[in-house]
Amino acid sequence: MSYLALARKYRPQTFSEVLSQDFITSTLQNAITLGRVSHAYLFTGPRGVGKTSTARIFAKALNCLSPDGASPCGECENCVSITNGTSLDVIEIDGASNRGVEEIRSLREAVKFVPVKSKYKVIIVDEVHMLTEQAFNALLKTLEEPPEYVIFIFATTDQHKIPVTILSRCQRYEFKKISYSQMLENLENILKIENISYEKDALNYIIRNSDGCMRDGLSLLDQVIAYSGGNIKIEDTLYLLGITDNYLSNDLFSAILKEDVKSLPDIISQIDEKGIDYKYMTECLIEHTRNMLFITFAEKSPRSDITEQEREYYNNLQPYGDKGRLYSLFQILQKLINDLKYSDFARYVFEFAVFKSASLSSIIPLLDKENTVKAAPVIKTENKSIVKEEVKSEVKSSEENIYENIKPAENIKEKEEVKQKEESISTPDENGIWVRVMNMVSAKDMMLYGFLQHAKIVKDTSDHLIIKFPSDRQFQYKNIKNGRLRDSFEHIVGNITGKDTKIDVEIEKDSEYEKKNEIVENESSKPKQQEQKQTVKKNQIATYASHKLKEEYKDDKFIQASMKELGAEIINVEKK
Ligand SMILES: [Zn+2]
Repeated sequence: MSYLALARKYRPQTFSEVLSQDFITSTLQNAITLGRVSHAYLFTGPRGVGKTSTARIFAKALNCLSPDGASPCGECENCVSITNGTSLDVIEIDGASNRGVEEIRSLREAVKFVPVKSKYKVIIVDEVHMLTEQAFNALLKTLEEPPEYVIFIFATTDQHKIPVTILSRCQRYEFKKISYSQMLENLENILKIENISYEKDALNYIIRNSDGCMRDGLSLLDQVIAYSGGNIKIEDTLYLLGITDNYLSNDLFSAILKEDVKSLPDIISQIDEKGIDYKYMTECLIEHTRNMLFITFAEKSPRSDITEQEREYYNNLQPYGDKGRLYSLFQILQKLINDLKYSDFARYVFEFAVFKSASLSSIIPLLDKENTVKAAPVIKTENKSIVKEEVKSEVKSSEENIYENIKPAENIKEKEEVKQKEESISTPDENGIWVRVMNMVSAKDMMLYGFLQHAKIVKDTSDHLIIKFPSDRQFQYKNIKNGRLRDSFEHIVGNITGKDTKIDVEIEKDSEYEKKNEIVENESSKPKQQEQKQTVKKNQIATYASHKLKEEYKDDKFIQASMKELGAEIINVEKK
């Protein structure tokens, strides 16, 4: 006896053998029992999930000579000839290769003859969406007034390509992908019958590569059996599936998470030597990231067909996979996929992204608490005098800081820069979110960073952020308040706080300038707010006096005329 492929050998022959489509099979059976059979059916859904098999079983059930209720016996003359594809009353045509108007015309002719040995003439058209427009039109005629004994069953993977006129004349049934558990059960049953031993993880890989399509699953199983000779092992399966290079993406991902930068060049060379597509490798890394996120935070298996090996792999990596890192990693990889599409230097683009991924803790500079103050942004007063503010907010920072676990940067250059700026810095509360926001902004959006340098923090809790620009920073204020930098700013703040933080961007009015300075003058006797302490240096008061003078001279008629004539403005007034 010649060898019969598993997909054919184990093709479902009764309604109960059709997997995962219970709703459809029971509806069809009811239709037969109740005598309410429609003359046209449309079966839609992905390939290999049982559409054609169900059509054949339905044809058998309709024409069976000794049915058991609505189930075909499988043994009578009609059942056997339909199973063997020799029935004269069940015509099966493939829409892909018989798509022209001529074929449909001959089909119409065939329909005119009454069935030879059965009750119904069943026409099964597979891949019906492939028919041409004229063919559909020709078909429509028959569908409108079919002879009583004719039943059409159309099957398609793409119902959107079928004209509405056809759709509206059919009863539609949507087939689902076959679930993991049913697929596994079916494969295990078949292997038992075939008396073949197997490793369960091998089946997991087969199911994963079948994507809910039983036919694919069985074809793969066939190949693996042929290769491994009656004892299915993981290695053989991986080899046949062409995923022996799995370990490379595993090694790469763990090197990235562990920030083991030294081993990267070697792994990348291996990827290059084996000619593995960088885009494919990036996709693998994205999948690893996703799986890691599921296992670590949802405490849920990322997929039902996960293998024991994989579970162990992810469990070992858990200590390295904090949320902030995984989110950032996902962003980098997603961008990498895009970059690879347009770059002529795939390897370099890939390398840079991978190195960046493996250096996240130094790219997203973070504070340890001692360094908090140094990384704060620069805020200059209008007259460039030096003000040191110490703001002590009672509000504690959100515990949800996603970057908390990433170590601070050790970027020397940056530290030097910070040192230089230190003198003119006013420092926000180290428990607030501002410093973290600025650190992330500096890594992501230099323009926004430049703009925010002029802002002063009024409030920086994770619930509410208020920043204020000096009156001469209209441009920066407008761009961040509702201009094009708003989105980027909101996004970064959201990333830091992990929630929808309210953001207010304000600007000082000119009159506020005076008020502020008056407060500064009276500081020692009357603090502005209890939680704010301000230390004012002597030269501040001197500058304030000069400001007063400037205001006086503004009203001077001679000076006003000169200003108008020359387009000048008063910059400074000094007392002699
Ligand atoms: Zn029968």
